[in-house]
Amino acid sequence: MTVYDLHCHSTASDGRLAPAEVVARAVEQGVDVLALTDHDTVIGLKEAQDAAKSTELRLITGIEFSSQWGKRGIHIVGLNVDVDSLVLKEAVLSQFEARQRRSEMIAQRLAKLGIERALEGAKAIAAGAVLGRPHFAQYLVDQGRVKNINEAFKKYLGAGKPGDVKNIWPELSEVVGWIRSAGGVAVLAHPSKYKMTRTKLCALVSDFSECGGQAMEVSSGLMPPGVSASLARIAQDYELHASCGSDFHFPGHKWQELGQFSPMPSTCRPVWELF
Ligand code: MN
Ligand code: MN
Ligand code: MN
Repeated sequence: MTVYDLHCHSTASDGRLAPAEVVARAVEQGVDVLALTDHDTVIGLKEAQDAAKSTELRLITGIEFSSQWGKRGIHIVGLNVDVDSLVLKEAVLSQFEARQRRSEMIAQRLAKLGIERALEGAKAIAAGAVLGRPHFAQYLVDQGRVKNINEAFKKYLGAGKPGDVKNIWPELSEVVGWIRSAGGVAVLAHPSKYKMTRTKLCALVSDFSECGGQAMEVSSGLMPPGVSASLARIAQDYELHASCGSDFHFPGHKWQELGQFSPMPSTCRPVWELF
């Protein structure tokens, strides 16, 4: 059976393995088809493609965009996108600028709490990668403000905390439009992570589908058992294809390893039918 992992990260965003290392690890873990989906960038894809050439692994181009639906942050994965498309290049640039604005705001808010130089610190940790909250979290750990990354999110960066900057991302429909214009498949990422009621989630899926979204992840790392079946039913109700991926960021995480997630229910129409 072909193993698909269509969601993972490298050092191009907030992952800890270089793109080539992600590919090598995916091969070790028995993955046959991998999509590298770094946050708001496709910069790691070239290295991953080169690394995949000497292996049996098939690499799919990918990206994970941050978007906004009402007041909520929603992640949309674009699979099989044309990385040379002008729309995608402009999208990546505009997300970079949004992240820049957000990072400055996070740093200002942390400064008000007496935490200085957070922007410089987070940038040094990111080392040229797409800047995200995990880099700020690491800075807070390094400064001895918190014990670990989890605590950094709980106290400073997570939902409702000072680092939770609102209204920074483009509308869900705009992001879906970018992906479709770049020839890709738009996938609603990790739906169970948003902690919505089923009614709310169905409203999201309905809007997503109406603006051109084609698939949703029904199996993902960190997903409690039993959730896949319920998500598969929603996918079916809204005539969406189903995707699966580990959302791998670094080795050693108990529930997020390449190729590791519950199997997709057999009733699903797999997203790779659309590639
Ligand atoms: Mn991430
Ligand atoms: Mn995500
Ligand atoms: Mn992700």
